[in-house]
Amino acid sequence: MDSRILDELEAAFGQELALVGDDLGALETAVQAKLRQLGQGLLQRLLARQPHGYQGSSIPCSCGGAKRFVAHRAKGIHTIFGWIEIGRAYYHCWTCKSTAVPYDQASGLGNQQLSPGLARACCVLAVDDSFEQSSRKVEELLGQEVSANSIERLVHQVGRTILNEQDQHLEEFLRQREFPEAVLEPQRLYVAADGTTVHEKDGWHEESRWERSTGKMTVRNELVIM
Ligand SMILES: [Zn+2]
Repeated sequence: MDSRILDELEAAFGQELALVGDDLGALETAVQAKLRQLGQGLLQRLLARQPHGYQGSSIPCSCGGAKRFVAHRAKGIHTIFGWIEIGRAYYHCWTCKSTAVPYDQASGLGNQQLSPGLARACCVLAVDDSFEQSSRKVEELLGQEVSANSIERLVHQVGRTILNEQDQHLEEFLRQREFPEAVLEPQRLYVAADGTTVHEKDGWHEESRWERSTGKMTVRNELVIM
């Protein structure tokens, strides 16, 4: 830890934080709020230095023409530290009137306003909880207000993306008649000797059990019956 930074933080916030007293929980919450503000400011500064999808004064357009760079257009993004603004390069084709914001595609933001970190937190919570409960927990844990509707939209979008990926694997399989490597799973029956040594009347020996492989291969003294 850089003690110079801590010295500066103490000089800036020490007096204010001292008012909280020695209630550890209250102090923890107050420090967390300060660090969140600092994170928001640092993230905003670091992002302000990036080109955000600027790829020169024009990029090729699918119509055969060119999309011209218009300006950097600001978009509000909700992060785990709070809201920040990102100015992304905006391109426009005068021939076919289509537009492009390369940064949104490259960063995975798309049309969304949730940062990858906040989106991940929402999805993790939504696995076990309702959208309303997830929304309350995001606020409790991260201090960020994300509505139940926003979480629901996000989860549906993530679900669609996963389904599209599965569709691509299926299309690939139908085209090539072989499983893509990533989804290749054993289609065989395994006998797994789990190595548990048991004592029976005739002496010590290894206990074996039959196991039908249902998913990913388990690795343990496997004998393969073709
Ligand atoms: Zn065009």
